[in-house]
Amino acid sequence: MRLHAELAAELIAVGREPGSARICAVSKFHPREAVQAAVAAGLTDFGESYAQEATAKLGGFPGITKHFIGHVQTNKAKLIAGGFDLIHSIDRMEAGLAVAKAMQALGRGVRVLVQVNISPTDRYGVPPREAATFATALRRLELDVDGVMAIGPMTNNREELRASFEEAARCFSEVGGSTFSLGMSGDWREAIAAGSTLIRIGTAIFGPRAPLNTTKSSRYDGT
Ligand SMILES: *Cc1c(COP(=O)(O)O)cnc(C)c1O
Repeated sequence: MRLHAELAAELIAVGREPGSARICAVSKFHPREAVQAAVAAGLTDFGESYAQEATAKLGGFPGITKHFIGHVQTNKAKLIAGGFDLIHSIDRMEAGLAVAKAMQALGRGVRVLVQVNISPTDRYGVPPREAATFATALRRLELDVDGVMAIGPMTNNREELRASFEEAARCFSEVGGSTFSLGMSGDWREAIAAGSTLIRIGTAIFGPRAPLNTTKSSRYDGT
């Protein structure tokens, strides 16, 4: 698909290897048919924010990697640990504990990322200065911490964006691992310049979503 070509071109433009970042297609609020079409178009990684919604939607596609990118509610930890391959959004100790416990109960290993907060408008994520300490604490719970995830600030100011992405990149180098999940439809090029290895793309692949507030309250009950 076109985004693959654009990503390869952007990687080359900033002096990186063309295969050094991949696309996570964010299919939340889109139907299973959209995922089916995306699989046919060659996408292999899918991200969802709501565990229940994702279970039916992403089931039965052999070989895809399932990414949980939503807020980790502790009462949904088993559903999340059982249904996904990589959890991007461990943002506090309770979430780490709940996921570690769920993985033990399920006998299943799942990779996790530390979500860092680099945006004044984002409610979740650990402060960047705490990322490394938090990662160490999660590893003591035997969680396989594979890197960092961040959501960019909602701004059109490219300088502000660059500065916060650099902060996330510093966190990634401190935490270690192989996954730096950064960049969405509106800011993935800046994320690639900052070293992102995984861009999370919804709108640019699937088109606009139904408004979050109405859909969420009427159909999804939080997760
Ligand atoms: C919805 C969502 C995305 C995708 O956003 P787009 O702007 O549609 O590409 C990426 N990351 C997270 C955490 C999301 O919740």
